[in-house]
Amino acid sequence: MNRFFRATGASLSVLALSAPVLAQDALPQANDSYFVAAQAELATLIAAQPNTGKAKNIILFVGDGMSIPTITASRIYEGQNKGVDGESNVLAFEKLLPWTALSKTYTHDSQVADSAPTATAMVSGVKSLNGTIGVSQKVTLNDCSTQAGNEVTSIFEQAEDAGLATGVISTARITHATPAATYAHTAGRDWESDANLPEGAAGKCADIASQLVNWPHGDGFEVVLGGGRSNFLPNTVADAEYPEKMGARKDGKDLIAEWQAKHNDGEFVWNLEQFNAVKPETGHLFGLFEQSHMQYEADRSNDAGGEPSIAEMTVKAIDLLSRNDKGFVLMVESGRIDHAHHAGNAARALSDTVALSEAVQAAYDKVNPEETLIVLTADHSHVFGFAGYPGRNNPILGIAGTADDGKGYTTLGYLNGPGAVLYAGEEPTLPEGATEKTKLTVRPDPAHEDTTDIDYLQQALVPMSSESHAGDDVAIFAQGPWGHLFHGVVEQNVIYHVMAKAMGLDGSAK
Ligand SMILES: [Zn+2]
Repeated sequence: MNRFFRATGASLSVLALSAPVLAQDALPQANDSYFVAAQAELATLIAAQPNTGKAKNIILFVGDGMSIPTITASRIYEGQNKGVDGESNVLAFEKLLPWTALSKTYTHDSQVADSAPTATAMVSGVKSLNGTIGVSQKVTLNDCSTQAGNEVTSIFEQAEDAGLATGVISTARITHATPAATYAHTAGRDWESDANLPEGAAGKCADIASQLVNWPHGDGFEVVLGGGRSNFLPNTVADAEYPEKMGARKDGKDLIAEWQAKHNDGEFVWNLEQFNAVKPETGHLFGLFEQSHMQYEADRSNDAGGEPSIAEMTVKAIDLLSRNDKGFVLMVESGRIDHAHHAGNAARALSDTVALSEAVQAAYDKVNPEETLIVLTADHSHVFGFAGYPGRNNPILGIAGTADDGKGYTTLGYLNGPGAVLYAGEEPTLPEGATEKTKLTVRPDPAHEDTTDIDYLQQALVPMSSESHAGDDVAIFAQGPWGHLFHGVVEQNVIYHVMAKAMGLDGSAK
């Protein structure tokens, strides 16, 4: 004790005696409903105990572009659609996955990431260049000659080689960047079929679709579900669901037929009826439900051939994968949260996020959570904001208030994107090739529009035909073995390292 405390010690102890500590239940706010609810929440926080067992299974959920404002807005959207208080509503993954961290998503060459290096970071443990998948920083973007020897190994490849079951699900094309990172190694994320390969690359660098079918690990993925049929079919073959459309491949290969020839115990399905009829003893399941990306959740019921929901795909995958006694590794990507944001269309981004949350609930109900590490995160953020001072229970897709121009403004909006409108005044000189979208107009008054319509595009500041990603951190949620390692602010590629540690793939467990 220093001299100051010695000198004042007497008066401090007098103070302590004369001011008895009030127990919480004696406080004037003791019966306040928020106070009581927070005490219950505190008890839940205290009860959460680290699980240091070995993970038999890992499920990695990725909400592509699911920024933190997307999560907050989706929580309110879900609650309001259910007719309960939106602000205090809790998404399934918020309740079921108690351990959280912030993920730093910058890449080897960029402050703001695309989905290719971020998925690589999550499943292979390294940071790499934007636009590249399953390769290290040593490659040059879109340069096939730099690819060989610079491949990295994904946790799916490790698991398949170790005799575990593996699965990959995406509502985007299965050859799109995020799912591709589980199996593909490419200097160019756009090389989804051979038709996209640059000059001179044919025969040297395999396209992404062919890498999936010819994946040289174990007996291949037990479950592959998503969109993107065209990249697996020749440009001379008509699509089953859209007979007026052809496949994309120039090399004449029918990769779906090649997949079927490799997997005598397998089933290929492309519509909901076939999906629902998949035999429980099916050894390998390959489902491609669209020519390109699957439908947004908001549009799914209108699909020509019928599509399963992301929750239904997740449950089916777990049913098939969990027959392997060694365990499984599964990625489930909600790939179109990102696409809705790029379109400046908040409603579809939120409804796809809610569908992802339902998939997490379905997975949790299906597995033994004690032996299953469940992780949910996003690959990168978007320039999507939650603004103003809207009152409690204001519709999340509604008007937040009145701006200085006397017009309304929406709670949700974008820093850039197709919803951009500028100001009255002199007609500017537009660049050559500028479209109507980039033509500057007077800002319409959202108060006179139906901003809650599913097709409404939120206003944006800077005109861009495709709204952009953002560089702010995203959230990681986890439960199960070693899920508690997700705390604080971590590099995105640490996600791989926690998953590998939990499964003993780091050599720490046999
Ligand atoms: Zn994107």
